[in-house]
This record gives sequence, structure tokens and C-alpha cells, in this order.
Amino acid sequence: SGPVTVLDSKALERALTRICYEIVERNEGLDQLVIVGIRTRGAYLARRMATKLSSLGEVDVPVSELDITLYRDDLDPNEHRERPKTPVLSGNNVPSNLAGKTVVLVDDVLFTGRTVRAALDALVDTGRPDRILLAVMVDRGHRELPVRADFVGKNIPTSLGEAVDVHVTEVDGEDSVTIRKV
Ligand code: 5GP
Ligand code: MG
Repeated sequence: SGPVTVLDSKALERALTRICYEIVERNEGLDQLVIVGIRTRGAYLARRMATKLSSLGEVDVPVSELDITLYRDDLDPNEHRERPKTPVLSGNNVPSNLAGKTVVLVDDVLFTGRTVRAALDALVDTGRPDRILLAVMVDRGHRELPVRADFVGKNIPTSLGEAVDVHVTEVDGEDSVTIRKV
């Protein structure tokens, strides 16, 4: 049997909208909010959330991207001699210091938690945010670290023999979440 669709484009869009309303509920005003997406697909989801939140809050919510590939703790350090000391935060309007900010970290899939752990390291190095919240489109389970998401598009209890594919229009030409056997 082929891939099974778990979220179609409408459902994915609804999940993003719901998460944005939940973020509004958890914050008194959106002035101190900064959205940070983890590359690649988390960054596209983050941009869309920033657009939605900007109109909901009538403020310009800054959005940036984090590339944490080189910060994962399960990479061989000898293979990454060029590993940068400072995280690569890039984007429009991003404060260079996150002190006093509420950061919403965004990723497409939460699995072992190691990517998020690395992202937290990188964010905390960029000045000390007041608060960091985590939003993911899919929580597929199998955590290896004590990480949980504050906002979840869809909980999908997977087996290790399954892969979740998150498609976003900007990269894949359509929005959807599918599961397949690997
Ligand atoms: P973790 O670090 O929690 O093990 O994995 C999360 C990161 O790896 C995310 O950035 C996500 O993009 C990617 N990832 C892990 N598992 C999956 C999966 O089943 N499907 C997709 N699309 N990405 C995954
Ligand atoms: Mg990723």
C-alpha cells in the first residue's frame, strides 16, 4: 500500500491557523514575539505563521530561520571542523539580541527531540529570551530527550518503520502530510 494522507492542504492550513490563535491566547499582545523556523520546511511554516500572527495582532511579527544541522549532538564532531560557534539566525527584522522576547520555535516534525535541543542551545546563545515556545506541525513520538511541543498541528503516533512526509507549497508544490512504510 502507498502513502496515506493524514492532513490535506485544507487541514494543514487549518492547523496552522489554530496554532496561531493558540499563540495569541498564550501571549498578552504580540509585540515581543519572534518566530524562528528550523530549516527547511519549518522555516516556511514559520513565515506563514508570522504573516497570520501579524494580521491577528496588527503588528509586524519578525520571523527568522535557524540552520541547526551542524549543532546536532549526534553528529561526529570530527566531520564538522568548520562548525560555527554562533548560530545562523537570518531574516527580516530579527532582533540581534533576544533578551525580553518570546520566541516561538517552529519545525515540521518532532521526533527524538535532538534538533530542538540543538536549536535551544543556539537560541540561548543569541541573548537570553524571556520564554521559548515550541510549535510543530507533526509530533510523531519516539522522544529520546525530555522535549515537548506547546503547539501541535497533529499528533501522529508512528512506528519506527514509518516515515512522515510534510509537503509545503513553497518547496513541494502542495501542502500535505502523508505517512508511508519505509
Ligand atoms: P528529531 O531531531 O526530533 O529526531 O527530528 C526532527 C527533525 O528531523 C525535524 O527538523 C524534521 O524535519 C526531521 N524529521 C525527523 N523525523 C522526520 C519524519 O519522519 N519526517 C520528516 N518529514 N521529517 C522528520
Ligand atoms: Mg528538519
